[in-house]
Amino acid sequence: MNANGGRVALVTGASRGIGRAIALELARHGCHVVVNYLRDREAAEAVAQAIRDTGQGAITVQADVATAAGAIALVEAAMEAFGTIDILINNAGITRDGLLLRMPEDDWDAVLDTNLKGAFQCIKAVQRIMLKNRAGRIIQISSVSGTRGNAGQANYSAAKAGLIGLTKSMARELAPRHITVNAVAPGFVDTEMTRALPADAIEQAVGQIPLGRLGSAEEIATAVAFLASPEAGYITGQVLGVDGGLGM
Ligand code: NAP
Repeated sequence: MNANGGRVALVTGASRGIGRAIALELARHGCHVVVNYLRDREAAEAVAQAIRDTGQGAITVQADVATAAGAIALVEAAMEAFGTIDILINNAGITRDGLLLRMPEDDWDAVLDTNLKGAFQCIKAVQRIMLKNRAGRIIQISSVSGTRGNAGQANYSAAKAGLIGLTKSMARELAPRHITVNAVAPGFVDTEMTRALPADAIEQAVGQIPLGRLGSAEEIATAVAFLASPEAGYITGQVLGVDGGLGM
């Protein structure tokens, strides 16, 4: 909690899609929010302004979470603005889909660097603050691709499965200081990431989802907000599927 009251949440990749919805939902729950983005300053500013309009504090910070320098600068900017960090949401993610047979090494590295190493960098930069506070919430956005695998997404699935191992190890490392670490594994969610897929791939995906539809970013955000809440204090090391039943 910062000096003005209210918990402080840092959401990576919050300029659009799921990260944006998480930022807005956490603000609705009384958090001040650090809105991180990579390229789209205007979109990030719009998210921060929407939060400020509700009376909560918000700043935008451009930073590449895949790099140690980016993660450190992000955390420093958050500390300067709000004085502490109570919640870290590792949401920033990219895809570079293709069969492994034809996957360039660069596509492997880019996806692992942003999706998995980005979470490592941000946890590393934030954990000292939470250790000192003897409290904190860390939530990774994994994926059903990480729990089940997906043809054409070896890099992405490996990164998302890696996030689950990272989550469980950090849950064990940080439990003595009352810091919980969990993951949310969305199925197919209607965002720019899935809008980039061919229509027949979406149709095929929907056919496999027991609830028969894509999820919304808001439906992921409400699950994240629960895990970030004081009420979820006895939940750690878990992977919560929010996927219309796809992952069962
Ligand atoms: P999206 O619409 O493509 O948004 C991605 C966000 O990540 C953007 O805000 C982008 O910022 C940011 N970003 C990308 N690389 C970054 C970096 N190196 N450093 C900082 N920020 C970076 O994606 P989404 O669909 O909302 O997905 C959000 C998360 O949920 C991802 O981890 C994704 O893998 C996961 N997920 C999505 C789905 C789905 O169906 N959509 C399903 C399962 C899991 P800029 O726009 O400013 O570049």
